[in-house]
Amino acid sequence: MSQRIPWSSHRVRLRDAVVEGYLVNDSPLRVGAGREPPLGSAVDLAVLRVAIGGKKVPYIPGSSLKGVFRSTAMQLALAKGLHACSGLSGYTCMDQEFTEYGGSTLMGYVQDRLRVGDVMEAIRAFHEKACLLCKMFGSPSFTGHVVFSDADPLDERGEVVEVPIGVRTGIAIDRRTGAVHAGALYQVEYVEPGARFRFTIAATNLPNYALGLLFKALRMLHEGWVRVGGFKTRGFGRVHVEDLRISIWGLTVEQGKLVAIDDKDLEVDLGSIARVEEHKVVAEGAVAWQVVGKLEEVWEQCSARLKS
Ligand SMILES: [Zn+2]
Repeated sequence: MSQRIPWSSHRVRLRDAVVEGYLVNDSPLRVGAGREPPLGSAVDLAVLRVAIGGKKVPYIPGSSLKGVFRSTAMQLALAKGLHACSGLSGYTCMDQEFTEYGGSTLMGYVQDRLRVGDVMEAIRAFHEKACLLCKMFGSPSFTGHVVFSDADPLDERGEVVEVPIGVRTGIAIDRRTGAVHAGALYQVEYVEPGARFRFTIAATNLPNYALGLLFKALRMLHEGWVRVGGFKTRGFGRVHVEDLRISIWGLTVEQGKLVAIDDKDLEVDLGSIARVEEHKVVAEGAVAWQVVGKLEEVWEQCSARLKS
């Protein structure tokens, strides 16, 4: 058991999960290059665009989605009393110093072990010391297990869909004095409500509780507790999920059952709700949301045990 390679290692492939669907914005959506308009300058803030099939279209970068999911998951983990870091450079689990590693950081220790060829100890130390979020979403010099693709305005056939863009004029306020900057009008571009962005999230090796945490973040986004992009305080960035599809497959999927991946995990039986194929479960639409709910329950049940 103790010699088993932990799920956070990329040296084992225990299962794959793909979550796909459409993010549809219910309020103006702004994913731009900068966070807020620079004060005192009248600038046009354009939304980010990507070239697809010769057209420049707005999109939601995977990195933005990853940021939303990680920060939501962090709040959820902290609320359960778990150790969880933000993943911000310089403040991650990798930057923490440990007395048992001679005061060295986790990163230093792991790299040291790798240098002398003690790979198993490097894997063990990371798995033991890094928080669940670092294992799921990654950490400096460690690739995570959840990959967010860019969400592009594509239809079912992969064709680019027209995305209506609006422009609003804002007034730059000096944050210190609260005064309006002289002549500080700026124009902000945004995506009009109703645009559909096709997204894909691919996860490997996640235990059922970690899938549950990911799914809870997805539901919070869907229900509007969490928003995407900028100008959130002005009501921007409310999205919901349509045409959700979840598929999970691999050696740890048996007859519709997702087996427990570590000793903190709980088995889930999706056989009665999802479509079961050999070593694979697939769920779409309302059934996919039932799967989300089932795994959220596992997160709730396991989170107390994850503390120890
Ligand atoms: Zn961490």
